[in-house]
Amino acid sequence: MLRELLARVGQGYRTGDFPERDPALPDRFRGRPELSQSPCAESCDACARVCPTAAVKGSPEGPVLDLGKCLFCGDCAKACPSSSIAFSRQHRLASLERDALVLRGKAATDVPSVLRPAAAALCSRSFRLRQVSAAGCNACEADANVLGTLAFDMGRFGIEFVASPRHADALVVTGPVSKNMALALRKTYDATPDPKFVIACGACAIGGGPYAGHDEVEGGAAAVVPVDLWVPGCPPSPFTLLDAMLRFIGRG
Ligand code: SF4
Ligand code: SF4
Repeated sequence: MLRELLARVGQGYRTGDFPERDPALPDRFRGRPELSQSPCAESCDACARVCPTAAVKGSPEGPVLDLGKCLFCGDCAKACPSSSIAFSRQHRLASLERDALVLRGKAATDVPSVLRPAAAALCSRSFRLRQVSAAGCNACEADANVLGTLAFDMGRFGIEFVASPRHADALVVTGPVSKNMALALRKTYDATPDPKFVIACGACAIGGGPYAGHDEVEGGAAAVVPVDLWVPGCPPSPFTLLDAMLRFIGRG
């Protein structure tokens, strides 16, 4: 027993200091894009040609990029002959409005507020989440799940996943919502007590992601339930999701 206690003391405190300090992001992380406002050459479609999800195109006001469709592969930045697209390390990507995810001429520092006063009033000290995995690839689920580990410990903010929608304040939807999952998502939403919130987590839940247009998917959570918070990424970094939820409930 003494040996176990000494081992535990030796391990020390391992929870990160986010959000007090900037997140320790991996070298390959791509965050909020920086888009030039200089006009794109009229015939140039270099970015659109390489984009797997039709998330970006050129325009007379510079590139237009839909964060909700973007998989953050970085191919458009590499393809752009005028270096009009770059990806910063800004992890704050979420929005309260779907339309606000369509960026043009934006700097990485233009981060919209995602404070939802009703959520802050009710959930700032206890925000219970029910996860609905609606046919995603499991990466969004894995990176949401990691928030419960000691590295992130979202429980210290009163945020936890719960086993039943009846105990939840919000649904976290991942995946493009297959036809087979649409009824389950609707029933889960109906079983969640009012007032309730819906978080669309990842490109699939926002609009279908790489599966958009497929016959067997609804094309995102909003086709079935109303969405309150949109969190881009494929998958969103755990820091992006945690930041979005903290600011949504007035803790960020
Ligand atoms: S980074 Fe996003 S917008 Fe650019 S090519 Fe990849 S998916 Fe398309
Ligand atoms: S958004 Fe990307 S990571 Fe998330 S479920 Fe879809 S394909 Fe997988």
